[in-house]
Amino acid sequence: MELLEERIRRDGIVREGNILKVDNFLNHQLDIDLFEELGAEFARRFADAPVTKILTIEASGIAIASITARYFHVPVLFAKKAQSVNLDGTLYATKVESFTHKRVYDVIVSARFLTADDHVLIIDDFLANGCAALGLVDLVEQAGATIEGIGIAVEKGFQKGGQELRDRGYRVESLAIVESMDAATGEIVFRH
Ligand code: 5GP
Repeated sequence: MELLEERIRRDGIVREGNILKVDNFLNHQLDIDLFEELGAEFARRFADAPVTKILTIEASGIAIASITARYFHVPVLFAKKAQSVNLDGTLYATKVESFTHKRVYDVIVSARFLTADDHVLIIDDFLANGCAALGLVDLVEQAGATIEGIGIAVEKGFQKGGQELRDRGYRVESLAIVESMDAATGEIVFRH
C-alpha cells in the first residue's frame, strides 16, 4: 500500500536489532486519518470474508483493530496480557514471546467472547517472527472458531512469521512488507 510505504519512508526509523520505529504515527502517537485508510484497505482485501469478530493483542494492535472494525461492523476482542492464568474453562490462554520486550507473556481471552460460531479476522500492527499472530491463532483454534485471515499493517518480510503463517495455509494480507532495512544508512526496501 503506497500511502503506508511513503509514511514509513518519511517517518520510520530503523534501529539496531531489526526494529522499525514508527511511534510517531502507528504505535505511540496515532495518525487516525491514516488508520482510516488502513482499515478501508483491510475491508477491501477481506471483502469476501464473512467476518464476525476482529481479534488483536494489547496494546498496540487495539487502535488499528478498532478503526478496521468500523468497516466490518463487528466487535473487536483484544487478547490481554495476564499476570496469572486460572484455567477453569472460562478463558482461553496461550503464551506469546514479545519481540520488542524479549519476554514471554500469558495472553488470555474470555471464552464468553470467542465461540465456535465466530469467523475471526486477526489484526496486528507488526508481523516479525509471528509469535503474536500464532498466539492469536492458537486462541481462535481453542475456541473452535474459524480464522478468515490475518491482516497486518507492517510485515518485516525478512523475519520468519509471514512465511510460517502462509505455509500453514492462513491468508495473510500485509499492507506494507519490508524486504530489508539497514540501521546504518536508514534505507528501507519494500517487497512488491
Ligand atoms: P512477532 O510476534 O511477530 O515476532 O512480533 C510482533 C509484535 O512485536 C507486534 O505486536 C509488535 O508490537 C512488535 N514488533 C515486532 N517487530 C517490531 C518492530 O520492528 N517495530 C515495532 N514498533 N514493533 C514491533
